[in-house]
Amino acid sequence: MEGVSYQRFPKVKIREIKDDYLKFELRDTDASMANALRRVMIAEVPTIAIDLVEIEVNSSVLNDEFIAHRLGLIPIVSDRAMDMRFSRDCDACDGDGPCDYCSVEFKLDVTCNSDQTLDVTSADLLSTDLNFYPVDTGPRNSTTGIDTSSDQRGIIIVKLRRGQELRLRAIARKGIGKDHAKWSPAATVTFMYEPDIHINEDLMETLTLEEKRDWIESSPTKVFDIDPNTQQVVVCDAEAYTYDEEVIKKAEAMGKPGLVEIYAKEDTFIFTVESTGAIKASQMVINAIDILKQKLDAVRLSEDTEEADDQFGELGAHLRGGGA
Ligand SMILES: [Zn+2]
Repeated sequence: MEGVSYQRFPKVKIREIKDDYLKFELRDTDASMANALRRVMIAEVPTIAIDLVEIEVNSSVLNDEFIAHRLGLIPIVSDRAMDMRFSRDCDACDGDGPCDYCSVEFKLDVTCNSDQTLDVTSADLLSTDLNFYPVDTGPRNSTTGIDTSSDQRGIIIVKLRRGQELRLRAIARKGIGKDHAKWSPAATVTFMYEPDIHINEDLMETLTLEEKRDWIESSPTKVFDIDPNTQQVVVCDAEAYTYDEEVIKKAEAMGKPGLVEIYAKEDTFIFTVESTGAIKASQMVINAIDILKQKLDAVRLSEDTEEADDQFGELGAHLRGGGA
């Protein structure tokens, strides 16, 4: 065989992009690819999270374990996580940290000296490395201090009354959601099949306007509408369809089976990705693709995996181009 390649590459079209939100279409691929991408985003894209807490003083109303647990759940800006080592693989410190390769140290030292209750928040966590800081607080460390004029006061850890104190040291490490949900960068990752909706126009025209309205109303979501000029039923938002089949049942109940046919396009997926803020939503997708490529490199046994690998390469290039 020479010359012609029939290989298809997935296409990505970004619909909406914000730091913590991404909506995109993934076309010309199949469900296994879409599922793999989703699973890796949730469970295998690494972030940094607090994993070890040494409490020095705690006279707050919450016990040490409770505070340690809360600290673990604070999303930390993790742009560098892909380049870091897992502590269990780190030969520089044997996983004991603090260590430049695999961990980041945070300190927190707050005492309440007033009659007003004092909120201790993630903004009070100061790191020695400005690349790492809790989301919603901005970069800061023990030198720059806390910008109290900022409205970025972070996530509440505990409230202190006069005379109460919380002083601790915390080590944040690289991890993945598969090990503990606190490391997952994903708040939500969902995808749906793009619906392909065909109205049987001839059959539809046998309905009165009242019957058309009645049929449209049977859909729990706003998928169809009536064109005010032609009084024809039109698809106004195919993606609002939730595969509930209500309009199909309604058509049958009206004695009009085949009034509408709805298929899921099996090669087209609409993804919605929301990030915790630890990494940008677009970066989460790019990192997931890189991780999938690494996995495929490791098991490059057949032409199938090579093809998938090429597809992911293309996909990554699309996102890097469109997601900047
Ligand atoms: Zn280390």
